Amino acid sequence: MPSRFIKPSDVATLFLYTAGFNFTLNFIATGMNTLVSIAIPSPLRRHFDYLWPAELTAPRPGERVLVPFGNRRLVATVLDSLASSDVPTKQLKSVLERLDQGEPAISKDLLALARWAASYYHHPIGECLQQILPVALRKATPPKIATTAWQAHGNTDELAPLPKQAHQQRALLKAIQQNGQLSRRQIKDMGFSNSVLNALIKGHYLSPCAETTPAPPAPQPPLTPNPEQAAAVNTLTAALGRFERFLLEGVTGSGKTEVYLQAIHSVLQRGQQALVLVPEIGLTPQTLARFEQRYPGQVVALHSGLNDNERYRNWQAIKHGKAAIVLGTRSAVLCDFAELGLIIVDEEHDASYKQQDGWHYSARDIAVKRAADWSCPVLLASATPSLDSLYNVKQGRYQQLVLQQRAGDAKPPSQRLIDIRQQPLDEGLSPLLFKQIEDTLNAGNQALVFLNRRGFAPLVQCHSCGWMAECESCDARMTVHFNRRELRCHHCDARGALPSHCPQCQNSSLTFQGPGTERLEMALKRRFADTPVIRIDRDTTSNKGSMQTLVDRIHNGDPAVLVGTQMLAKGHHFPDVTLVAVVDIDGGLFSPDFRAGERTGQLLLQVAGRAGRGDKPGTVLIQTHCPDHPVLQQLVHSGYAGFANTLMAERELMGLPPCSFMAVMRCDAKQLSSAEQFLTTVSQGLQNHKQCDIIGPLPAPMARRAGRFRCSLLFQAAKRSQLHTALNQACHVAEQQRRLGDLRWSIDVDPIEMF
Ligand code: ADP
Ligand code: ZN
Ligand code: ZN
Repeated sequence: MPSRFIKPSDVATLFLYTAGFNFTLNFIATGMNTLVSIAIPSPLRRHFDYLWPAELTAPRPGERVLVPFGNRRLVATVLDSLASSDVPTKQLKSVLERLDQGEPAISKDLLALARWAASYYHHPIGECLQQILPVALRKATPPKIATTAWQAHGNTDELAPLPKQAHQQRALLKAIQQNGQLSRRQIKDMGFSNSVLNALIKGHYLSPCAETTPAPPAPQPPLTPNPEQAAAVNTLTAALGRFERFLLEGVTGSGKTEVYLQAIHSVLQRGQQALVLVPEIGLTPQTLARFEQRYPGQVVALHSGLNDNERYRNWQAIKHGKAAIVLGTRSAVLCDFAELGLIIVDEEHDASYKQQDGWHYSARDIAVKRAADWSCPVLLASATPSLDSLYNVKQGRYQQLVLQQRAGDAKPPSQRLIDIRQQPLDEGLSPLLFKQIEDTLNAGNQALVFLNRRGFAPLVQCHSCGWMAECESCDARMTVHFNRRELRCHHCDARGALPSHCPQCQNSSLTFQGPGTERLEMALKRRFADTPVIRIDRDTTSNKGSMQTLVDRIHNGDPAVLVGTQMLAKGHHFPDVTLVAVVDIDGGLFSPDFRAGERTGQLLLQVAGRAGRGDKPGTVLIQTHCPDHPVLQQLVHSGYAGFANTLMAERELMGLPPCSFMAVMRCDAKQLSSAEQFLTTVSQGLQNHKQCDIIGPLPAPMARRAGRFRCSLLFQAAKRSQLHTALNQACHVAEQQRRLGDLRWSIDVDPIEMF
């Protein structure tokens, strides 16, 4: 074996040798060991050093390997080759196996993204990489992509003839020959069993082939853009090829989607890919359909309904540039692209872009980072932009594009507050509201009744002794689900039977307090017995395809009452809805979270935006006990822009985000005292953080959830760098602490919730 020249990096090891360490001859003969630093999917915020097997070619950053870790074997990712390690070589373990024979699973681009994310979000890089990888690649065994179609072997004459009695096999072979190829599904549908197919495969009568997809239908032509749409498309198209950030503010129904579709045309002409992020595909099947109709055969959808193999296949198609348009939810922002040319974040204000557990990333913010990496434009769009993005416009970082007109002939809806103080209410609905729904139905239109609370009633109480049904594991009340005769906790999903008697005093006078969508549905059915009442919430849409069925019923255009939660408020285009009734908005006006006002306003305008989207004018009615509340007054009279300005002024005055930077360290444990103690120690362990305010530990308003007590330490600073310095220290102190059994902690940078 030829000996190598000694590189500077080997000096450290040589020093060990000359200092009398016990090295074997074999080691010297094969040259120095190659060391690698590895990212392991573990909660530790560090890299791990391993020896690289001598028989392998040089390690490549981003490739997956199998490593021993404790008494387990884990799939991990190579970060770098190392010159030296702080750990003595003989204590290092060796990588067991290389898993990526071809190119590394994690591309350079994604590896850089993971490194950036780990430091920005103060999250272990191994866990970031784990999430970036499709599930199929998180396992050591490579995913088997089942062959989808079979054709007859080129020269069947060379093969032994099929046995005389093998009638089934002969019939299947003949069918395949006649059709050219048949897919597994087709074969099954023809009634052939797997064993017949397998016998033919084993005898080499068949060879696998790619399933030919039917030729895509002709694309739908683009709409003629109005002047505002044309201006937005032109500005975007002109920015292709360089990093620019845009905020598109377009009232609901102003034709934002048409802007995306037309801008994407230019992206495809440049041979590049477009990424379109949406909050939830299942909720808006129409959006996906519109993309597919305009660009048949070129759209890949990434959403939670796919299984691991489907996801992996899509990931491959995107990586190799076979998918031109990627339409996906939050995690689609972590895809590996061949040539990314434009990113669009639809409904950019939506909370679902922020991951709420583990790695607390914001897909919207990562979208901007990725656009910078790919030198391409990014378009954030919403009818109700987040204050974060509006602030970026104000600071001159984002360029503003505006669509003020509704597309086509649609007119903005008129809005009105209904003062329900002292009004007789029937299951939460006022007489005026019923009257307006009736008029709407009589005119042949549809009415939408919105309440952001599912179930029958949020509280069941004994009228005799005052007992209330409470969750055993949370500081919360159980919600009544009447149809299922169940009590459910909406925080931990605990379930129990709906009692017929009070468990405390055995009295049967139980009362249900407050409305939920199920209760509204019942009241509306009673009142409008001849009209379909269609309820859309998590309970009626949990089965696959059920959302689509309900949406189709709405689209047939017959008079109907739609009742539902925010699932009904987002993104839908129901041209026959002319009345939107908001049952209860007051809850959102009084909340300890400083973002509550922003969220309530956004939701209200999103719901309102469902009214009058076709050629018929729309009306929005808002029931309230506080008709003079400034937030409501402003929303109704000066629209979102004025409302957002007021909120922004408040945030500036109080130095709250987006005018400052925030992070939360959360901790939860079986005992409140241990969680509090942990955060107190972290807070006390921080030094020289004068430029970062540290507040807490504060117990969460609902301190106990699913049997665990939760509290938070808030970090707030005027500059990002100050925040990160304090967080680095905090993570260090937290990791040094001995963790008591079940205690868990996490960091959330740019949180959208405090607790
Ligand atoms: P948004 O995404 O802003 O809510 P959409 O893109 O869904 O709005 O458009 C609302 C409706 O207006 C859709 O039915 C769409 O087909 C139609 N529309 C959009 N742009 C035009 C246009 N330029 N001419 C005619 N109709 C349009
Ligand atoms: Zn009782
Ligand atoms: Zn609970």
